[in-house]
Amino acid sequence: MSESETKPLPASLDVIIVGAGFGGMYMLHRLRGLGLSARILEGADGVGGTWYWNRYPGARCDVESMQYSFSFDEALQQEWQWSERFAAQPEILRYANHVADRFDLRRDIHFETRVASARFDEAASRWTITTDKGQVVSARFCVMATGCLSAARLPDIPGIRDYTGETYHTGFWPHRRVDFAGKRVAVIGTGSSAIQAIPVIAAEAAQVTVFQRTPNFSIPSRNAPMDAEYEGWWKRDYREKRQQARMMRTGILYALNPLSALEVSEEERNAEYERRWTNGGTAFMGAFSDLILNKTANDTAAEFVRNKIRATVKDPATAEALAPKDHPIGTKRICVDTHYYETYNRPNVRLVNLRQTPIETITATGIRTSAESLEFDAIVFATGFDAMTGALLKIDFEGRGGRRLSAEWEHGPRSYLGLMVAGFPNLLTITGPGSPSVLSNMIVSIEQHVDWIAGLLGDMQARGRTCVEATDTAQEDWVRHGEEVANRTLYPSAASWYMGANIPGKPRVFMPYIGGVGVYREKCDEIAAGGYTGFAFT
Ligand code: FAD
Repeated sequence: MSESETKPLPASLDVIIVGAGFGGMYMLHRLRGLGLSARILEGADGVGGTWYWNRYPGARCDVESMQYSFSFDEALQQEWQWSERFAAQPEILRYANHVADRFDLRRDIHFETRVASARFDEAASRWTITTDKGQVVSARFCVMATGCLSAARLPDIPGIRDYTGETYHTGFWPHRRVDFAGKRVAVIGTGSSAIQAIPVIAAEAAQVTVFQRTPNFSIPSRNAPMDAEYEGWWKRDYREKRQQARMMRTGILYALNPLSALEVSEEERNAEYERRWTNGGTAFMGAFSDLILNKTANDTAAEFVRNKIRATVKDPATAEALAPKDHPIGTKRICVDTHYYETYNRPNVRLVNLRQTPIETITATGIRTSAESLEFDAIVFATGFDAMTGALLKIDFEGRGGRRLSAEWEHGPRSYLGLMVAGFPNLLTITGPGSPSVLSNMIVSIEQHVDWIAGLLGDMQARGRTCVEATDTAQEDWVRHGEEVANRTLYPSAASWYMGANIPGKPRVFMPYIGGVGVYREKCDEIAAGGYTGFAFT
């Protein structure tokens, strides 16, 4: 069956899942195991979510392949072989397709079908879901697997529609190879996607001009072909290692140094940073226990990385512009790169610092800043996402008593555990705001949410319960707890997308739960074991 072939959508189901990324696919698999009728509605014409959409050059995972993969099936994790330490997008997409085939998921997925609205019918205790094609389906439960980074965003730059050259957004890259050879390319943005794409585009294009508003910290990945011994080390006792990873703060198994950065000598401190810099990847932030808690400790790590940038980038003004000084390291998503800073030593690459010379307008042929007019053959927007809430709020949700999600979240997202929103019965969110989600290895968080939701639905089946809802009190307590934990860290001090700061007018609220993946899992398990405290059933 072709991916985009339409098949009739049943009028009535137990569960509608929205999204066929890793979250939606695993949810479907678990629901089948419970004997529930379920279908996935997916806007794309294939599975994979993030890895379906983000096909830009250099797109790569920054969690190691051995950890960024499903753990729920022992044969799957033993048999699949990753070719690199950090997998690139095409390989992760192949993996997603392999999972879809292996578990025969496609027959219950409706591709090219976008959910436009969902309304809760209180009398029937069911959701009525309407798609962009006007299809209507009724389901007892609605599970949102719509992704935290799936609502790509274009910036609000004057003249953006006037440009007549090629334009691309990293978050919805074409499915064909884009040829930059001989072209003058502008890249707007210097977040994670840009940091991955710029070195690859620069190797091909005639010229690359990078427009930077805020520099980000990036750590070299030291990516390499998969080491057979390392793969074997993981696979020998994969189950045990995955279990350890689940209890880590980030859902990633790596060595966390229990010491404070301030209780060792400067020499020891720098040796630890150097060791982690040489090893590569986000484990750099595990160098000391207080890097996200104490500004003085954080400054030592930030200055170490700034000095690495200064030592790498030959032009001192460019190096200084690339060295972040306006936020503690790690409080904006830390990036992982392959030769990012080195790329600025190429003669065909130039950085425009928008703090000094802001963009005034995009013209028909290029970009005009306060200092100059530049012509481009192509503009790449690496301008990120309306994170965590964007995809959810694109859907018009109407809950109990006409409550609208957009109104409930006017001042920022509120949820119980990031799993349910009070006033929206039988609506569940996978990695929703209020859960660790984007602060973690997301496959670990996805599996935990899906397992928990499957446990809840199985329990309701067994007890003959039809409706579940988070109570207002439980939600308020959870939101308050989330704020308290966040305020103990340095995170809220950064103008990050975790805080909604990249979207004009978006409320400034720290959206994910920073208490840690392991701690969060224990809380969720405790709540389930206590008969689902904080949830009301009918
Ligand atoms: P997604 O993969 O985002 O899938 C959501 C799906 O829902 C999409 O296919 C979308 O089309 C669909 N959808 C949304 N709204 C609707 C609607 N209304 N109707 C129908 N369909 C809809 N995480 C990590 O842990 N490590 C990493 O290194 C990492 N790197 C990343 C790099 C990039 C460039 C990006 C964008 C994200 C990265 N992530 C990473 C996060 C990544 O999103 C998750 O790891 C994971 O893929 C999320 O899976 P998901 O199923 O929850 O959501």
